[in-house]
Amino acid sequence: MINFNVPPFVGKEEQYIREAIIENRKLCGDGPFTKKCNEWFENEFKTPKALITTSCTHALEMTAILCNIKPGDEVIAPSYTFVSTVNAFVLRGAKIVFVDIRPDTMNIDETLIEPAITEKTKAIIPVHYAGVACEMDIIMDIAKKHKLYVIEDAAQGVMSTYKGKPLGTIGDFGCYSFHETKNYSMGEGGAILIQNNKFTDRAEVIREKGTDRSKFFRGEVDKYSWVDLGSSFLPSELNAAYLYAQLEEADKINKNRLDAWDLYYRGLENLEKRELIELPYIPKGCKHNAHMFYIKLKGLKERSELINYLKSRDILSVFHYIPLHSAKAGIEFGRFHGEDIYTTKESERLLRLPLYYGISKEDINSVIIAIEEFFTTSI
Ligand SMILES: *Cc1c(COP(=O)(O)O)cnc(C)c1O
Repeated sequence: MINFNVPPFVGKEEQYIREAIIENRKLCGDGPFTKKCNEWFENEFKTPKALITTSCTHALEMTAILCNIKPGDEVIAPSYTFVSTVNAFVLRGAKIVFVDIRPDTMNIDETLIEPAITEKTKAIIPVHYAGVACEMDIIMDIAKKHKLYVIEDAAQGVMSTYKGKPLGTIGDFGCYSFHETKNYSMGEGGAILIQNNKFTDRAEVIREKGTDRSKFFRGEVDKYSWVDLGSSFLPSELNAAYLYAQLEEADKINKNRLDAWDLYYRGLENLEKRELIELPYIPKGCKHNAHMFYIKLKGLKERSELINYLKSRDILSVFHYIPLHSAKAGIEFGRFHGEDIYTTKESERLLRLPLYYGISKEDINSVIIAIEEFFTTSI
C-alpha cells in the first residue's frame, strides 16, 4: 500500500517531548519549546514576530480580530481553498467575495482582485496553493492603493519563497499550518507571522484568552487581567517540542520533498509531452517547497477512473477542494465576483499523488508506472 500521506518524523521528536515532560516540567503553552519555535521563524524568515498557535485556522481567526473585521465588511479570497481561509472572517461577520483562480498555479488571479473591491472591502487573502507563491508584488500594490490588509494563507507555503522572500512574511500577516498533512508538523498546530510591531501586543493578548498574561510573565505588569477579545490559541509544549525537532531539520525535510517532487516531474514529463496529462507550473521568481505533487486530467470522469485504477493497485491518490462558492455555507456567506471560468473546471481535473517526507524512490516509480499503464490500457 502506498499511502497518500505519512506524518513527518525526523528523529528528535520523542527526545524533545521527553525533555518537556521530565526536565522542563512544563506542558502548557509558551514554555521553552514554544519560544524556540517562535524564534526559529523570526530568525530564519527575518520576521519581526512569529507566534505558534493551535492551528492555521486559529492563526487566521486571530488575523480577522487584529484587522477589526466587522459585520458587513468584505474580504476577497479564492474559492478554490480550504474552508478555514474564509471561515475565520465569516466568524467576524464578513461577507466573502470570491474571485477566479489562474489555471496555471491554481492561485487567486491577481488581475481580478481590483475589480472586486468595494467600499466595504477590508482585506485580501491570497492562498499559496501547493506552496507556490501568488503574484505578491501586484497584490501588495493593490492593497496599498486601496488601503487593504493582506493576510497570506501560507498554510502550505512554509519554506517557499517569492522573489527571495519567505511566504508568510510578505503581507501584513502570514498564517502557517503544522497539521500532520503539512510539510512540518506538530499534529495540529499553526503560526501567525506579524510584519508590523504595532499588532504584536494585541496578538499576544488575543492568543492568551484576551488577557495580558504574556506581559505579566515578562514582568511588564504586576497582575494580568481581561483587556480585549481573545481565545485560547496557544499550543501545548508537547506539540511545540515535536515541531521544534522538525524545524531543526527544515532543510533536510525540504530537500527530501523536493527530490521526490522532481522524480515525479521527470517521470511524468513524457505523458505531458503526449498531452495526456498536465504537470504543475512554477512561475519564475517562485521557489516552492514540494508541498504537493498534482497532475491534471481531462476532467472529472477520467480523474475518477484514475483514482480507482490507482486504488486497485494499492496507491492512494486524492482530489482536493470542492470550490467554496458552490458549497452550502459558501452560498450563504459569500458571492462570486465575475465569472467562474477556471475554479470549478480546474478543480475537477486535479489529482494529488502520494508525497511525504521519506517516501521511497521505488514507491514514486510504482506510481509513475501505474499512471503510464492507466493510459496504455485506457487508450
Ligand atoms: C491546511 C490548511 C489550512 C488549515 O490548517 P489547520 O492548521 O488544519 O487549521 C488552511 N488553509 C489552507 C490553504 C490549508 O492547506
